[in-house]
Amino acid sequence: MKKYYEKVKGTLDFYPPRSILFKNVADKAGKLFKTFGYEEIILPVLEETGVFIKSVGQTSDIVRKQIFKIESKNIILRPEGTAQVVRFYIEKAIYRQRDFHKFFYIGPMFRGERPQKGRLRQFHHIGCEVFGSQSPYLDMEVIKLAMLILESCGVEKITLKLNSLGCEKDKKNFKNFLIRELEGSKEKLCLVCKGRVLTNPLRVLDCKHQSCKRVVSGLNLTKNNLCDSCRAHFEKVLSLLKKFNIPYDYDPTLVRGLDYYSNTVFEFVSSELGAKDACGAGGRYNDLVKNLGGPEIPAIGFALGVERMMLLIKEAPQVSTAKVFVAYTPRDIYPQAYKVLNSLRENGIPSDISYNDRPLKRQLRLAQKLGVDFTVIVGEEELKDGCLILRNMRESTQNKVKLDDLVAVLKENLC
Ligand SMILES: [Zn+2]
Ligand SMILES: [Zn+2]
Repeated sequence: MKKYYEKVKGTLDFYPPRSILFKNVADKAGKLFKTFGYEEIILPVLEETGVFIKSVGQTSDIVRKQIFKIESKNIILRPEGTAQVVRFYIEKAIYRQRDFHKFFYIGPMFRGERPQKGRLRQFHHIGCEVFGSQSPYLDMEVIKLAMLILESCGVEKITLKLNSLGCEKDKKNFKNFLIRELEGSKEKLCLVCKGRVLTNPLRVLDCKHQSCKRVVSGLNLTKNNLCDSCRAHFEKVLSLLKKFNIPYDYDPTLVRGLDYYSNTVFEFVSSELGAKDACGAGGRYNDLVKNLGGPEIPAIGFALGVERMMLLIKEAPQVSTAKVFVAYTPRDIYPQAYKVLNSLRENGIPSDISYNDRPLKRQLRLAQKLGVDFTVIVGEEELKDGCLILRNMRESTQNKVKLDDLVAVLKENLC
């Protein structure tokens, strides 16, 4: 018989403590983005197919096999944020307001191919896009910000890899250089890369096959593939990274799989994630706004994978829901007990009660399971004197407290 309680393959349910960890990551990132002058945007998960095909490129892996299409509508579930933010930026003519904008977003992204280990159908990105400047300071700052987010969330042992792809012209020259070089060693490449040499030779550079790696390591890849101005920009970015104490690995084989990237590209990798090891990536896309029909405006951004970050966070988050439990006896005193609960909540004290009619012993057991700090016991005798029993669950001690003092006493003792 079909089970009706199975989640879709490649999706995750987040519940405590994972849901708390997720929220912590989002909160910490949001705080840092705001510190750096970013504004939050919330965009739909649905987009027109064309936006992505035009942006990331016909031959990119995303378009070839990864997009989650809704065939009947020519609509897709977004695979990443950059193309979409650019679509929004042009459609709303944001550039008319000022000549410089910084946006960040946190939300789900989707993949159409069959889910496998480490590759989910629905996953989450924390990302940002900055429009309107070519400054190498911005390249440095965006990278630094991503590093700060990873660090503040407790993601450790991260290496920054970076490279420069140069401008459109440099990319074209580099592509031709690669085609020339790789044609000669085509026989030594893996099956996929054999097909890539003419269509998407850049992808051969980050193929994980040993045979392809060997061919790539024999190529003479240097910054000399860049034109003077792109090389100067990249050298400046590198010197700024040094100046601001951001360690990096210059990796001339780093190309990223998406057509829109130009000049600086980077990836954050961890040896702990295995082969598909990036937990975030980004770069410049100086021509994308223009290519999608907007004015010529340079831009840069990055995205961090929340699920991958969570795999790398060692420290368990603090689970804290209700801090106070209200118990009562006998059962007909429930209305008074509920009144006490209500006054605690009105004073902002996280608190709860049993909604089912249970004897005091079971109520106390429930309080223990909830892990509350205090239990307030509303008893008939004590209530006659305007008092309650306050039980400290951590120390297993209890004493009488005046009903009028309860809120003050709890506020003093709850951190
Ligand atoms: Zn150039
Ligand atoms: Zn290969």
